[in-house]
Amino acid sequence: MSVVTRFAPSPTGHLHIGGARTAIFNWLLAKSMGGSFSLRIEDTDRARSDEKMTEAILDSLTWLGLDWDGEPIFQSRRMDLYNAHIDRLVDEGKAYWCSCTPEEVDAMREKAREQGLKPKYDGSCREMGVGAPEGDEKRVVRFKTPLTGKTVYTDMVKGVVAWEHTELDDMILRRSDGSPTYNLAVVVDDHDMGVTHVLRGEDHISNTPRQILLYEALGFEVPTFGHVPLIHGPDK
Ligand code: GLU
Repeated sequence: MSVVTRFAPSPTGHLHIGGARTAIFNWLLAKSMGGSFSLRIEDTDRARSDEKMTEAILDSLTWLGLDWDGEPIFQSRRMDLYNAHIDRLVDEGKAYWCSCTPEEVDAMREKAREQGLKPKYDGSCREMGVGAPEGDEKRVVRFKTPLTGKTVYTDMVKGVVAWEHTELDDMILRRSDGSPTYNLAVVVDDHDMGVTHVLRGEDHISNTPRQILLYEALGFEVPTFGHVPLIHGPDK
């Protein structure tokens, strides 16, 4: 199996030094194994993404000599693909429509906090079958996180990492405006791009068990993950 790595910046600012380092590690891993290095622009947050920043990031990578294989992938052009996978998860009973308002979810979290429990969505709509929204109703799609057990994986950098499923929320896959969330889009893309090694900043480590559960639910092969430390300024 040929190694495929990727660098997936969000074009909300210039290339950060930590991002550049992550890109170098990905490039080196791919090149050292005779594999390929892909680029994905994570521009689903339309309000914060800027085409000029995309250009600036591509220029910076080019200046660093980090050439990528093929054309960059733009998430904003792939909404139909993400939504098709979300619909499939709903049809298969692995995800569900949720009609709880943000205020109701806040109240659930507060109640859990008061009881000394992990603040999370209480799963009210999980078995209720509230169905797709009609008209202007605001509904999100949530993932049915397993209620028991844990997800364990071996990180290329951190070694064995384990997360109890009780620690995880029923994450939102589709927002009430119809847009897919980060975790869903990343899993669909990494699978679709044939990524074998996901090497990224450790700020994403808590997303990894969620993404592994999504890989399994979607029937995709789980890649190898690695999380490198962030680079902070003296002010952190
Ligand atoms: N777009 C994310 C970021 O800039 C990276 C996501 C990932 O590598 O999975 O932090």
